[in-house]
Amino acid sequence: MNALAAHRHATICREIAAHDYRYYVLDDPAIGDVSYDGLQRELRAIEAEFPLLVTPESPSQRVSGAPRAGLRKVLRDVKMYSLDNAYAAADIAAFAARCAAALGPNTGLFCVEPKLDGASLEVTYEDGRLTLATTRGDGGEGEEVTANVRTIRSLPLAIAHAGKLTLRGEVVFYKRSLVALNEARELEGNEPFANARNAAAGSLRMIDPREVAKRPLRVLFYQLLEGPSLHASHSESLAFLRSLALPTHGLEVVVSPDAMGPELTRLEGVRASYPYETDGAVVKVDSYAGQGELGFTSKYPRWAMAYKFAPERARTRVTDILVQVGRTGALTPVAALEPVLLAGTVVSRASLHNAEQIAELDVRIGDDVFVEKAGEIIPQVVGLALDFSAPRGLPFCMPTVCPGCGEAVSLELRDELRPELGAKAKLRCTSRRCPAKIKGALLHWSRRFAMDIAHLGEALVELLIDTQTVTDVASLYDLTFDKLATLDRMGDKSAQNILEAIERSKNRAFSRVIVGLGIAQIGQVAAKQMGERIGSLEALLALSPEALRAELETIHGFGDKMIESVIAFVGDEEMRALLMDLRARNVGRPEEIAAVVEGPLTGHRVCVTGTLSKKREAVQEAIRRAGGTIHDSVKKDTTMLVAGDKVGQAKFDQAKKHGVRVMSEAELEAFITPP
Ligand code: AMP
Repeated sequence: MNALAAHRHATICREIAAHDYRYYVLDDPAIGDVSYDGLQRELRAIEAEFPLLVTPESPSQRVSGAPRAGLRKVLRDVKMYSLDNAYAAADIAAFAARCAAALGPNTGLFCVEPKLDGASLEVTYEDGRLTLATTRGDGGEGEEVTANVRTIRSLPLAIAHAGKLTLRGEVVFYKRSLVALNEARELEGNEPFANARNAAAGSLRMIDPREVAKRPLRVLFYQLLEGPSLHASHSESLAFLRSLALPTHGLEVVVSPDAMGPELTRLEGVRASYPYETDGAVVKVDSYAGQGELGFTSKYPRWAMAYKFAPERARTRVTDILVQVGRTGALTPVAALEPVLLAGTVVSRASLHNAEQIAELDVRIGDDVFVEKAGEIIPQVVGLALDFSAPRGLPFCMPTVCPGCGEAVSLELRDELRPELGAKAKLRCTSRRCPAKIKGALLHWSRRFAMDIAHLGEALVELLIDTQTVTDVASLYDLTFDKLATLDRMGDKSAQNILEAIERSKNRAFSRVIVGLGIAQIGQVAAKQMGERIGSLEALLALSPEALRAELETIHGFGDKMIESVIAFVGDEEMRALLMDLRARNVGRPEEIAAVVEGPLTGHRVCVTGTLSKKREAVQEAIRRAGGTIHDSVKKDTTMLVAGDKVGQAKFDQAKKHGVRVMSEAELEAFITPP
């Protein structure tokens, strides 16, 4: 191995870790994106040349590991307890008095800190290396999520500490990241998350670490469970974690019992200013000696208590229950409310999610209800505020026909549908001609991140569809001044502006057209990649399904679900007709095709299998650098199989059947090494 390369490699690893710490923990980046990406690129280049330098702690290995069938259960040494809750300041004061009485007056300092609203996590470092991460599970037994947690950039993969360190913390989503994530999910046709807690818990338990890496999760530690025994108190341990560049909330304050009340009030007052959600404060006996003396009940530590903040809540009346039909045809019930002030905004609508939710709440038109905004983005109806002597309306039933088009709706069963709300099924309108769906499609098409058509807002879209002036996104491009000017309340100037905005949108890049079409599973990033691989609508339409599949398989990060979704979309007769209509109207500017790496493997589709002398990812990276594309399994159009040790006969048989050239690792190296 080259000593110089090893030295440079170690330096870059340290630098990247330090920049990650500044960016993700301190929120104070020292360098810009371009320099940071330069370091990452240099690291990958060194590792491609010297694969032995690739250790699990290298920043290049944050996203490693393949999807798993399920999560492994791990029995933990020390149970993860719940926290006893209090909702009234008097209960917290009584708790403090109990502790003080049991411990004597001198041990009575308490640590007050925010209660982070996310998903609990336990992390172990051994001799400085991150070795295990588990979810809370049932407390005694958690689920292993190490590969997922490694993708969280605020969490160091290596720390400067010998011996074992076990930490507990909360995986959270920053509020601003959740807004962006939900926008992206809606774009891909997925359900948005209701709050940061669900988003964090759901992301943490995903089976594919590559997907987790796309979610901007954070960890904030709140407890050192096992580590050096020299600390006398919890607050001292938190400071120790920070000295190791481990992320903590950093908001603990140590107070005497009389200062606790004001501190809790202060925390509640500033909670909105934190970048993450908090649902209360945790009060803990600070000294470890005191904690040890008090011990645990079967469920809770006796030395800590959570003080739950009151959710912001308002009382109002449901004036109607509307059923909205989205772009994908999904039917969502929404409560129309008498406007009421809640957490600083006037609320006149609240989501009811689905039929199960309505049945559970038993909410009916005319009922008085409570609405809350506890960490939720959209206000929720949380319960009835009934005067039971007054007569009530009839129970609400979801319609059996689509409110948009009158066609029968179908019930779609899907496991991943908001299980936290008990939803196992979604009602969907499958009609192609449903005006409500077309309105949704048109609005989506015109959005800023898609074709960006200014002036084409909800009211105009509604008018265009209702008057059948426009019937799909392609017919938008057939609009004329005369057609527009005859519409109600449409001035000449507005008509002109709209026509110009529509005309300008023809010049958006092909990838924006893909975004605008709203293909399931394909978000902005994937659309950009697809645009750069395929180039234009023309080229897309010219591809056979097989050729399209082969192109999509070469795109980094395109999994089976995404590929199938694109193929189904392009193969669908009506969608194809729409694509042809758009092409005929010159919609979308061709995209520059991303440069294909030229090398000895250009044009080769290579599958790597068996035990190799290096990590499989390193071999695959070397293949990509030589111009090849990677196939995860041997398929019809695979051209080469690189076989290490312990490869089953079936693989060879398959390779033979498809006429795939088989190579050993050494042969591959000889093939791609320049003479
Ligand atoms: P609960 O789920 O209500 O029983 O509360 C216990 C959970 O609160 C723990 O498992 C942690 O995941 C979470 N938690 C959030 N912030 C803190 C904190 N500062 N200290 C302790 N636990 C916390």
